[in-house]
Amino acid sequence: MFLARKLVLVLVILTALGGSAAYFVTRMGLVGSAEQGRYLGWTVFALLTLLSLILAVLIWKNLSSSLQQICAQLKHFESADEIGMIMIDERDELAELVEAVNHYLTRIEAKFRQDRILQKELEIQARVAETERCQREAVIFSISQAVLVTDKYDELILANQSAEKLFQFELDSSYRKSIDQVIHDDELVELIRQTRRQKNTRVTQMFERLDPQRQKHLSLEVFLSCVLDYQDEILGVVVVIHDVTAEKEIARMKDDFVNSVSHELKTPLASISACAEMLEDDEASDKQSRQELNSIIREQAQRLNRLIDNILNISRIESGMFKANKKNVNLTDLVRQVISAMRLQAAEKNITIEQEINCTEPLIFADPDMIHQAIMNLLSNAIKYSHSGQSVSVVLSQKNDQHVLLQVNDNGAGIPTENINQIFEKFYRVRQNCDLAGGTGLGLHLVRKIIETVHDGRIDVTSQAGKGSSFSLSLPLCRQTEPVAV
Ligand code: ADP
Repeated sequence: MFLARKLVLVLVILTALGGSAAYFVTRMGLVGSAEQGRYLGWTVFALLTLLSLILAVLIWKNLSSSLQQICAQLKHFESADEIGMIMIDERDELAELVEAVNHYLTRIEAKFRQDRILQKELEIQARVAETERCQREAVIFSISQAVLVTDKYDELILANQSAEKLFQFELDSSYRKSIDQVIHDDELVELIRQTRRQKNTRVTQMFERLDPQRQKHLSLEVFLSCVLDYQDEILGVVVVIHDVTAEKEIARMKDDFVNSVSHELKTPLASISACAEMLEDDEASDKQSRQELNSIIREQAQRLNRLIDNILNISRIESGMFKANKKNVNLTDLVRQVISAMRLQAAEKNITIEQEINCTEPLIFADPDMIHQAIMNLLSNAIKYSHSGQSVSVVLSQKNDQHVLLQVNDNGAGIPTENINQIFEKFYRVRQNCDLAGGTGLGLHLVRKIIETVHDGRIDVTSQAGKGSSFSLSLPLCRQTEPVAV
């Protein structure tokens, strides 16, 4: 039994004994008078009160020490941030209370532990979900095509920078916004909604749009797919937009090229066969006429040759199979050869070719056939894109100690400023000049390859529409150590 309770029991027994003793002593006249009986009663009462006080102090001390013990343990738990069991003597007055509290704490701790495990699991799940989200975003962000993902409420939940650029919206502030507030393209927005409504999993559509930034026409191929969960419920729509402008342009250029090449092949072939027929039918009676027909055949055959050479040389250089046959070449000689080869073509258009050599016989270490072709292409263009009666010039001068400069100038159609950067691209032809002459758009591309890729030189152009053009080739001069051709 607990001490306090024992003391209280002793107190009750003593009080009962004391009270009974006082009563019997008084009743049985063991004390002399009533006064004496009262005195005895008060004495017993005083003694018992004193005893009670002593007992109360003892009980209070006992309780206070137990409470202090409990408080100390609770403070320790608090500072250690843990839930522990309160340890107390099992005979202690508060032992039962402490046991109940401990029981309660045990349950809290178990619950706490469970919550912690749950929290850990949730943290892991959140981390996995975050990693997956990052991976998904990384994949979508690495795609060069524009990607938009909407949910079942047609709100934007994912997009990449290409989409941001194409539709000109700000990604961070557009998430969870209705798609029609993000992209201002009614037709595409309606298509997204329709794909979701109809649960279509494969929709492809072409869109022709104007790029507001570059004011350029865009051809967009749009793929849409409604994403469904395992219960066939709509999760959202994925939109992938592929900019096929370049592909379309290349396809158009290739078509143009095929048309140009066939035209370019047919024209000289037609002249050759016409001349051959005339010779066969003896239509050229005198020697001079026959010579004229022969020279037309030769010249047209050369034209065909040039075209085929252009095509073959470009593909050889581009495939890396081309081996330049370089030697020391006198550039003046080459210029003279090209001019004399082109005289007939110039004469046909009543164009005069002027030649200006402002340096002493420059020697370059080069493949003579290639350089011949490059000069020929430039001079041929100068003649082609000049008007009848005009003149073109070829100027040769020393640029500096290491380079010689060759310029081919004309006063012809010129090139509009907006097209000048593209004229060296394969198959590119300036539309405005197409009526003046046929061509394939390969000549300048080949010249650039020959000069810059094969000979470490440089080609530049200055031109003004309607005023004429000047193409200049800068070629490295021969160094002393370079082998001299035999
Ligand atoms: P093409 O076979 O069409 O002449 P090129 O590659 O030689 O192909 O030239 C590309 C385009 O550059 C030509 O179609 C023409 O419009 C333009 N061009 C080239 N040279 C000149 C020039 N001297 N004057 C005006 N335009 C030129």
